[in-house]
Amino acid sequence: MKKLRLILGDQLNINHSWFNATNNDCIYLLMEIKQETSYVKHHIQKLIGIFAAMRNFYALLISKGFKVVYISINDTNNKHNSFDNIKSIVEAYEIEFFEYQQPDEYRLDQIMKEVSDSFDIPTSMVSTEHFFTEREEVKEFFSEKKQWRMENFYRFMRKKFRILMRDEEPEGGKWNYDAANRKAWRGDPEQTDDFRPEHDHSKILEEIDEAKIEYFGSPQQRNFRWPINRDESIILLNQFIKNDLNFFGDYQDAMHTDNWRLFHSFLSFSLNTKMISPAEVINLVECAYAKKEVSINSAEGFIRQILGWREYIRGVYWANMPGYSASNFFNCDTDMPNWFWDGKTKMNCMSKTITQSLEHAYAHHIQRLMITGNFSLLAGIDPQQVHHWYLGIYIDAFEWVELPNTLGMSQYADGGLLASKPYVSSAAYINKMSNYCSDCFYNYKEKITDNACPFNALYWNFFEKNHDKLSKNPRLGIVNSQLKKMDIIQIKEIKERAKNILNDLDKI
Ligand code: FAD
Ligand code: SF4
Repeated sequence: MKKLRLILGDQLNINHSWFNATNNDCIYLLMEIKQETSYVKHHIQKLIGIFAAMRNFYALLISKGFKVVYISINDTNNKHNSFDNIKSIVEAYEIEFFEYQQPDEYRLDQIMKEVSDSFDIPTSMVSTEHFFTEREEVKEFFSEKKQWRMENFYRFMRKKFRILMRDEEPEGGKWNYDAANRKAWRGDPEQTDDFRPEHDHSKILEEIDEAKIEYFGSPQQRNFRWPINRDESIILLNQFIKNDLNFFGDYQDAMHTDNWRLFHSFLSFSLNTKMISPAEVINLVECAYAKKEVSINSAEGFIRQILGWREYIRGVYWANMPGYSASNFFNCDTDMPNWFWDGKTKMNCMSKTITQSLEHAYAHHIQRLMITGNFSLLAGIDPQQVHHWYLGIYIDAFEWVELPNTLGMSQYADGGLLASKPYVSSAAYINKMSNYCSDCFYNYKEKITDNACPFNALYWNFFEKNHDKLSKNPRLGIVNSQLKKMDIIQIKEIKERAKNILNDLDKI
């Protein structure tokens, strides 16, 4: 029976059982289509990265003897949508059975259902064999519980997969070492080398330009430094474990203008395109801990991100789609200021984080959460615009992981399903965790003067404005009691300063 198997751009998993053996009756299909480049405006490095990784995967399959059809972006037969391309291949090769791997994004899941339903031939959807959990597993786990909290799910996962466990107890005696992970970085330990590969992608870039795909990121930002195949991803993983992991835990939340990467792994693109699996990453980290090469707070802190957060986030996405993307708990509707697209703002923390994101298609978690996300929520920016910005700018942005992180964790747009409180702060936190404030036009200690840090007035304005929605949150006891102690004049001045900032967001 002649079979067609579709491989999506984020399904580049050579260890999938599809590739256990070659079969002359089976054709694999990869395609670069405008349907996938245009649902949001993307950073040029994201487009290059996905196309380059797909092309590498194609070459690997061919070298192993698989029969593969590759439709490239400027192929004259390219119809630029999944439906028409798949249909024409089914007809041309007289395909009798169509198979695809479970898409991770709701949008693609719907498209693939429509494609399958339209065929007369039998079709089937198989697992991507990538995640620890099934799509619905997180929803089932929380079905009997009052609240969705990642920590409960994470402990369940540790026990279920026997990761960092000693008999029935967590390794080291504690489930979570987060409290040890909040150090600022002041230059010591020294910055480690950036081991990402370097690629000349001028040819792909030319093809993207020729196809007239819209993107952002200027020519200077086109130097491509991301892994585009499994071998490069494994090298990066091993270098991370050897050089950075031991510092990862301590400095996970730190930010610094001299060290934009700090000790983060840069593995999200490799993981999200499935060039490497979460199980193998965790396994290597656990081995390094067992060999006493890394501390428990680093090993646990890192494993929690992948075994806990990554799987939990995916479960939240599938439990709540399609409605989740429209959530807007605080009814925010302010337009995103233009400087989100060029970094030209007097706020040093925002300017540095945005410029870095435009240059590298990367910002680490705390930059995303406590700088750009924090500001967006305090300024009441429309969550849809925030979501589209995050989905376009980061190399690792795929909706299943980006949307719950942006709308749920960062913007609290789901009203607290994912996060137990809004992740917002005044300048005090940013000054504690970074060196941004020391070189800023604004004064991080001031609240209401013309050069007072905008975060300060916006922070108190946010809690005052949303008092009805947040006053009963048990995790906000201190903030709410501080707010209560403020006198009317103080609140009036803060609101006035916040109003001035919000009236002219493009100028701050
Ligand atoms: P490290 O800091 O080295 O962490 C290791 C790995 O843990 C990451 O590669 C990632 O796979 C996983 N991880 C860590 N935190 C999370 C998390 N909250 N959710 C899911 N996985 C996590 N991550 C994405 O992969 N794609 C996104 O589009 C994305 N959008 C985000 C948007 C916002 C507003 C926020 C606050 C976070 C977002 N994250 C996203 C999570 C996190 O910021 C990135 O996974 C991380 O910065 C990637 O860099 P790294 O590989 O160096 O990660
Ligand atoms: Fe950011 Fe305010 Fe610090 Fe400036 S003073 S860097 S705007 S937190």
